[in-house]
Amino acid sequence: MLGSHVGLGGKEQFLGSVKEALSYGAETFMVYTGAPQNTRRKDLAEMRIPEAQALMKSNGITEFVVHAPYIVNLGNTVKPDAFDFAVEFLREELRRTAAMGSRTMVLHPGAHVGEGEDAGIMQIIKGLNLILDADTEAHIALETMAGKGSELGTSFEQMARIYDGVIHNSKLRLCLDTCHLNDAGYPVKDDFEGVLAACEWHFPLNQIACIHLNDSKNEQGAAKDRHENIGFGTIGFDRLCAITKMTEFANTPIILETPYVTKEGEKERSYSPYKHEIAMLRSGVFDPELIEKIRREAEQA
Ligand code: ZN
Ligand code: FE
Ligand code: FE
Repeated sequence: MLGSHVGLGGKEQFLGSVKEALSYGAETFMVYTGAPQNTRRKDLAEMRIPEAQALMKSNGITEFVVHAPYIVNLGNTVKPDAFDFAVEFLREELRRTAAMGSRTMVLHPGAHVGEGEDAGIMQIIKGLNLILDADTEAHIALETMAGKGSELGTSFEQMARIYDGVIHNSKLRLCLDTCHLNDAGYPVKDDFEGVLAACEWHFPLNQIACIHLNDSKNEQGAAKDRHENIGFGTIGFDRLCAITKMTEFANTPIILETPYVTKEGEKERSYSPYKHEIAMLRSGVFDPELIEKIRREAEQA
């Protein structure tokens, strides 16, 4: 199922998120429960969850995912306060995820901030063991990372080490980000079957609870993490479109996190590409004029 990242905020809150997803013709979506770059969160009672759920139901949306804010870091061994805060916050965030009606919270595993891979991975394991217990309702899907800075989770081997250390690892899942895999060195464009085989060496494919479908601005192995619009990057349309048609992922949320389109030299106004990218992926035909078209359409509106 295909969808995109959508916003959450203002008066409409989660109801607005569902409306945004529907405006793109999406079958699923992903939300942050508040601003992704901070950890201020509203009470569940103010989030208009029942209305949002009713709207999803009447439109046949059965699944969506929550993304944890990317500023919390479970890999931090340097600042104990930051680690404790991350644990506390993520435990709450998992409750929010379940209360909103999702079974998956996507998480960037963490970064070792200079202390090395082993220290970081041990700390992530420690954190996940403080967060997860037998009664945890939603899963944590660990996202494959590009390897920028000291990010961990850049290989299936690292993910397997994390799973191995987590007691309730039946609550863990994976989120594959195509841009991140490419930037981490995996041959997404040329041999995606090989990438999945590398995954299956450690994890059955049913552990993949979410796919982030992004093209990349950088070459394979660049360790950069800069997303590009579908078909306009180094992975290219054919591979990304083929992933959306794979029967293995027919029931997996496939989420676009591609950049908004801006006017040349203008930062203030930017336009969501998702309606157009979803339609293009469904059509199976790349439109090299797509970005121009989005700009033109938005400016006429
Ligand atoms: Zn992410
Ligand atoms: Fe992602
Ligand atoms: Fe990214």
